[in-house]
This record gives sequence, C-alpha cells and structure tokens, in this order.
Amino acid sequence: MTAIDKLIENTIRDDVRAIGSYHVPDASGYIKLDAMENPYELPEELRAELGQRLADAALNRYPMASYATLKAKICSSLGVPAGYDVLLGNGSDELISIMATAVARQGREAGQRRAVIMAPTPAFIMFSRSAQFAGADFVGVPVKADFSLDLQAMLAAIEQHRPSLVFLAYPNNPTGNLFDADDMAAIIRALGDTGIAVVDEAYQPFARKSFMGRLPEFPNLVVMRTLSKLGLAGIRLGYLSGDPKLLEQFEKVRPPYNVNVLTQVAAEFALDHLDVLDAQAGLLNDERTRLAAELAALPGVEVFPSAANFISLRVPDADKTCSELRAGKVLIKNLSRMDKLLANCIRVTVSTPEENTAFLNALKASL
Ligand SMILES: *Cc1c(COP(=O)(O)O)cnc(C)c1O
Repeated sequence: MTAIDKLIENTIRDDVRAIGSYHVPDASGYIKLDAMENPYELPEELRAELGQRLADAALNRYPMASYATLKAKICSSLGVPAGYDVLLGNGSDELISIMATAVARQGREAGQRRAVIMAPTPAFIMFSRSAQFAGADFVGVPVKADFSLDLQAMLAAIEQHRPSLVFLAYPNNPTGNLFDADDMAAIIRALGDTGIAVVDEAYQPFARKSFMGRLPEFPNLVVMRTLSKLGLAGIRLGYLSGDPKLLEQFEKVRPPYNVNVLTQVAAEFALDHLDVLDAQAGLLNDERTRLAAELAALPGVEVFPSAANFISLRVPDADKTCSELRAGKVLIKNLSRMDKLLANCIRVTVSTPEENTAFLNALKASL
C-alpha cells in the first residue's frame, strides 16, 4: 500500500471510501437526454443584453450579503406568499445538504438519538446522499408498484422512526408522477411539530402544481425549487421558502456567499424574462404529450404518467436499449439498478421535436 493509500485509509470516512464516484458521462457529440436540461437557449437579443449585464457585474466584490434584490424578484414573480422570504442555494442540491446538516443531531447527548431523514423511494439520489454525509440515518419507504405514495406505510414509518426531515418530490424523480396532494397533506400533518416536510418542486415549471400557496396552512412545510429544469441548470440557483423562524435556522448553516455574482445577475435577468422560459416549458409540455402517446403505441413498452420534463418507461431489456442508444449517440438514463420497482425502466428527458424523434427512432430499432 502506498503512502497516499495509507493516508486515505487513516483519514477519509469508511462510508465515503465505500461509495463509487458520481459518474457523469462525457456527452460531447451525443443527443443529451439524460439530465432533464431544457434544450432551448435564450433568444439572441436577450443573450446580448445578458452579456452586457454580466460584463457590468462587480467581480472584484463579494456578492451583496443579503441578496435582497434577487430574493425580492423571486418572491414577487414565483408565487411566494406574502410574509414569506426565501433561502438561496447553489442549486437545490446545496439546499438539501443545508437542511440535512441543520437537522443531523448526532445523538451524543443524553436522551437523544441520531436524526432520521426519510423519503418515499425510488427518490432523488441527493436525499439519501446528503443524509449520509450529514451523519443522519436515511429511511426510504417504497412507493406502490404504480409509483403512487403508500400512505399507510409512510405514516407507519413516521411513527416508528420519527424523522426530522421528510422529502417529497412533487413530481417525483425518477418516476415523473405527482403524488396525491391529500396524501401529502396527511404526511405533513402527521409530522406536526416533530418533523419538517420538504416538498421538492424542481419540476414545477412543467407540473404547474404547487404547495407554495399552502405554506401558511402548515408551519412545518418547506417548499423548495430550482431554476435548473426551467432552463438555467448552468447557473446553479435553488430557493426554498417556509416559516421565517425556520429559515433563520437554515441561514446559519448556509455558507455566506454561496450564490456568486454572475449567478445573481443572470437569475435577476432571467426572472425579468420569465415569460420566455415559461413559453419554452409550454413547448416541452406539448412534446411530452406527443412523446408519451407515441411511446405508448410501441409494443412491449410501458409508459408511466409524467408531469415533469422527462418520461419514465419500461422496456423489454433496458440494458440492451441503453447500450444501443448510446452506440447511436443518444444518451438516456438507465434506471434498472436504482430500485427493484424500476426493473427494466429507463428515463428520457423531453427535448426538441427533432431530438425526441431521433430518440423514438433509435428506441424502436432497439426493441
Ligand atoms: C434536478 C433535481 C434537483 C436538483 O436541482 P439543482 O437545483 O440543479 O441542484 C432537486 N430535486 C430533484 C427532484 C431534481 O430532480
């Protein structure tokens, strides 16, 4: 064993050493349908204007610590209820990690136990990863075979494990469906003053359903969103809202200048042109309808309902389909090994009509 291997064994946590690196395939030359990105760019005129604004940004200064302008724009244009503020993150990935860190009691004090973080599974990978890194226990509660919430199982798990944090992605990733809103409300109510419910609305621009307006109804509710799926994945900006007193606690964990000035300027600009991004989301929703109908007509293919900018489907042989698509320069996500409910399932991002058709043709050839 070399000195560096010894050093790593002596210093890096066992559970960190045990996991594989997050593998992001090199996508150059591929039709990229694996990461729920918006395929459209801003119109030329807006890009030029944005370029000017970015050029004027004070790169020599730290960002304005309060982020007041950006926060005010988010609150006024994205339906945050009156009296509620937002917490900003370097993507919602960072917000997930901030919340996990804030609740992750280590159980070292008398009468305490390690914190539990819970989500229905299959779920977005960062829920369990962030719990693990923060030193909390993650409990996944399987959804039903049709990917709907198993409410009785969730309520029983809440009673048994008393989670500090429960993530509910609305719509869920990787399945694409919206959970029943009454089931979600029952879970939020059951948590009461013992657990925080985070409704992750990463796909809200496509689902057009939200718990944001219901914040005043539930003191333990946090609604989290991102600009990533709307078309700004590159700038990394997530936000969440909830009771001001709860946000105050999360604020303490947030690194002070986590949102950089370029992101701040680009986000403020984008929010002034939200109509352009919303129109793109509308086009993608139309394509989702077309793609789902064409997929449903293919023999041997089972399509799951989606309210997001991706579709999950079951094919006869997911490994074969994914490797043949890759050979044809189309990248999608193989969900097969993620969860036993996802055997032979794949996930495809909805894109432009041309790219969707290229995917359909490649898929047909692989069946
Ligand atoms: C993509 C995604 C996110 C992460 O968004 P970023 O803001 O890009 O970090 C969060 N939650 C779910 C469910 C997602 O699918």
